[in-house]
Amino acid sequence: MSHSSNEFEVIVAGGGIAGAAIALFLSHLNTRVTIIESRPCRPSTAEGGILMIGSNGMNVLQGLGLAEKLLQRESGLQVSHITIMDGSGGLIGRVPQGCVERHGFASTAILRWDIHEVLLDDVDQKGLDMRWNSRIESVDEFDDSVLVRWIEAGEKKEKEVDLLIGADGIWSTTRPSMYRCLGLEAPKPRYSGLVGVGFILSIDTVPGLSEFLTLEQPVVMVQSRLGFVGMMRYDKAGKKVGWWTTHEASERSREEWKVPKEQMFRELRERYSKSAFPVPQLIQASEESSEQPFVWPVYEVEKLGNWHSKRVVLIGDAAHAMPPHSGQGASQALEDAAYLAYLIRQHLDQHSNSTRGSTATVLHSLLDTFQKERQPRVDDIVDEANRRGDTKRETSQIGMFIRKWMMKILILFMSQKWMDGWFGYKVPGIDEWSALRSAAR
Ligand SMILES: Cc1cc2nc3c(=O)[nH]c(=O)nc-3n(C[C@H](O)[C@H](O)[C@H](O)COP(=O)(O)OP(=O)(O)OC[C@H]3O[C@@H](n4cnc5c(N)ncnc54)[C@H](O)[C@@H]3O)c2cc1C
Repeated sequence: MSHSSNEFEVIVAGGGIAGAAIALFLSHLNTRVTIIESRPCRPSTAEGGILMIGSNGMNVLQGLGLAEKLLQRESGLQVSHITIMDGSGGLIGRVPQGCVERHGFASTAILRWDIHEVLLDDVDQKGLDMRWNSRIESVDEFDDSVLVRWIEAGEKKEKEVDLLIGADGIWSTTRPSMYRCLGLEAPKPRYSGLVGVGFILSIDTVPGLSEFLTLEQPVVMVQSRLGFVGMMRYDKAGKKVGWWTTHEASERSREEWKVPKEQMFRELRERYSKSAFPVPQLIQASEESSEQPFVWPVYEVEKLGNWHSKRVVLIGDAAHAMPPHSGQGASQALEDAAYLAYLIRQHLDQHSNSTRGSTATVLHSLLDTFQKERQPRVDDIVDEANRRGDTKRETSQIGMFIRKWMMKILILFMSQKWMDGWFGYKVPGIDEWSALRSAAR
């Protein structure tokens, strides 16, 4: 491939959390990055629900110099543990979520929108080439380049670059394109049988809720026989609560999920009528509110045998749709971005910042290392998330009794080693980016 300069040229498909993060890391290297994002423009109102970003994800944001910025926002509460209760309000256990002393940060309960905003602000500030209203269409791969075609505001575009990074989420179009390059068919997302319904409320719409969800107990999860309800305080002022339920539901089309609010809440009321405070009260207050719920059918993709071809690599949900039950979707997307950027950094250092070394073999071995190093960790987290997802499925009274005691025992024996493994993990080289950032200033 002929270059006008010796920059390593990259297209990132998708400007979500993984895509924005990898573009920001690469902006500190001798690279030219274009981000192709299908949304029409930068969202101007909060999108998505609340989520947890683990200490491990916060450490990646720290590598980008953005952790403090995130923690300065209105939403974002450090959470040292999650309290798990049964449907009648009995304590099952408390699950630690990382801590400042040991892991640099505790986990943070936050609006997904805030993480995305902080990343996109930095993308804008750095003047990165972000193409909104642009959708990746197809890919052709050669030994020395990859030809990426996309539609931008209705117009066909194409560009030959060194590497295409597919960060376009669970419904990725890069995934099937990459599999086609390998002469294989990509697995498709399939419905898990579980749906999430979420809502944000003012905490004072439920009398007694601010005494129940305190700063010492900001996140409570209720495991009942017919489903699961989680609730979080996530803003510093203590005015808001985000709550969501995950329960079994049969598959519907995208349109059919848009059931009238009244019908959805009738179903929720019936399902959780026997739950202890504050579950029925949250349902009632949300039903009376003028806001609409956030409905999220959970899709999954079987573990991929291939995360890359010669010059296409997948990261984030495109590589491993992370079930929401892990609380690690955003953190694993950030870890992927940081790990791939670290390998590209080493590669460019070894080849004196030129693309001379980016022959198919060298790049292939870099991408192989990426998959080999990342996949075992990600697979473990997906397995654990699926186990947690199964505890949200309906069961009998006896089943619930057994489930509750198994959870109690598991939590009791949850080791420091497990916690360090999830939350204390630091992507190699993450602390070195601050020097590169300072040099770029
Ligand atoms: C709107 C939204 C709300 C979410 N809400 C929550 C939540 O409340 N809680 C939670 O735990 N997780 C949520 N998630 C998922 C969570 O953010 C992801 O699991 C995690 O951050 C992984 O991020 P990702 O960048 O890999 O994928 P995503 O966040 O899905 O980002 C993928 C990006 O690629 C873009 N894209 C898709 N196809 C193409 C294409 N062909 N060409 C160009 N661009 C394309 C999408 O528009 C999107 O911006 C949400 C995701 C989205 C998109």
